[in-house]
Amino acid sequence: MAITVVTPTLNDVQWLADHETGEGMVVSCYADTSVASGVRPLWREHLKNEVKRIGETLADSPAARAELQRNVAAIEAVLSSRRLARARGVAVFAASQRNLLRTYALASQAPNRLVVNEEPYLVPLLELLHRQRRYLVVHTNTHRGRLYTAIPGAVRLIEEISEEVPKRHRAAGERWGKQQATIARHREHHILHYFKELAGEIARAWPDERYDGIVLLGEHEVLQQVRTHLPAHLARRIVREAPYAWVGRQASLESKINAIHEDALREHDREVLEDVKRRLMEQHHIAIGPQAVIDAIVYDEVGYRGSVVMEPDRGDVASRCTGCGSLFAQVLAQCPSCHGPCEKTNLWQAIALLAAGHHVSVDFVGAGQGLEKHGGAVAVLAREEVAPEAVLTASLPERRA
Ligand SMILES: [Zn+2]
Repeated sequence: MAITVVTPTLNDVQWLADHETGEGMVVSCYADTSVASGVRPLWREHLKNEVKRIGETLADSPAARAELQRNVAAIEAVLSSRRLARARGVAVFAASQRNLLRTYALASQAPNRLVVNEEPYLVPLLELLHRQRRYLVVHTNTHRGRLYTAIPGAVRLIEEISEEVPKRHRAAGERWGKQQATIARHREHHILHYFKELAGEIARAWPDERYDGIVLLGEHEVLQQVRTHLPAHLARRIVREAPYAWVGRQASLESKINAIHEDALREHDREVLEDVKRRLMEQHHIAIGPQAVIDAIVYDEVGYRGSVVMEPDRGDVASRCTGCGSLFAQVLAQCPSCHGPCEKTNLWQAIALLAAGHHVSVDFVGAGQGLEKHGGAVAVLAREEVAPEAVLTASLPERRA
């Protein structure tokens, strides 16, 4: 069996969402294949338990049980493949009656999960995509630098530069002072030249990708120099700086980036929740509850720098009109506007997909943060006074310029 493993993009999620109707069931499986989950991967046990549990609910239908077994066998074969050895997480979608078997390698861990439904379960995938950030990473000392493009889990070198800087001499003698002063001037000249060149490389690399921010790695004094040489619009995009030696034993660049990313996301979530709390108190520039969120997205009220903020999926059911495509945060047999028949869909998935289609970013936040009183979902609406640009913005979906 050929297994195609790709890192998912929003297009893949859209593709899966568009293929959500058809005969039979879709089995969606998320497996935590990271080393951190244990020496013995726990997904196998989880999968077995879930198959048993779901199988029991299908006791009345031997055909459905057989279909479940067929799909699970296909998923197990995929998960056991050596080609997935390096993935931190894996998502597999199997629907034997629709001839569907799709595998995605995930750059981040995803909790083990098995869902059987008429449509693929895409919420964890959407969550990962919305939390993904792409950084331009600059690692430098006074005369050598490397530029990387990095998403957590995948770091790639894109540029390396260096400048010959005269060494400090430990010379002695009567001309010592004068010589040292000349060498020091030379050194300064070369170092200055190096920082200018580095700033130039950063400015050249920035437009190549849709970066969410710049990460500077090195000694603080050196990084201050880099900052002062960067044009203002790029200096504003520095999201983090951290010490990282040029040589020596230390954490791998990949794990350094992962830690910075985690830290930046935590801060981002805190800022988002503070903003939501303030708006809820003022009852201003905020759409409260799933239906209001849907309407705000459809009527373009969220806008640039606004976002949808959602708790973890509650498994609520929404209705989508098969005629006009309208989405309703409740179960309806018939569309109130065009009277077409409605089909059921997962509410959280439908909102996240709708947001993606309107280039609105979604912040998935933890449970128990105060959103439970408001239907678990709110939308932060566009307004004039917004936080400084230094705040991380999501790379997905694409933002309007
Ligand atoms: Zn309709």
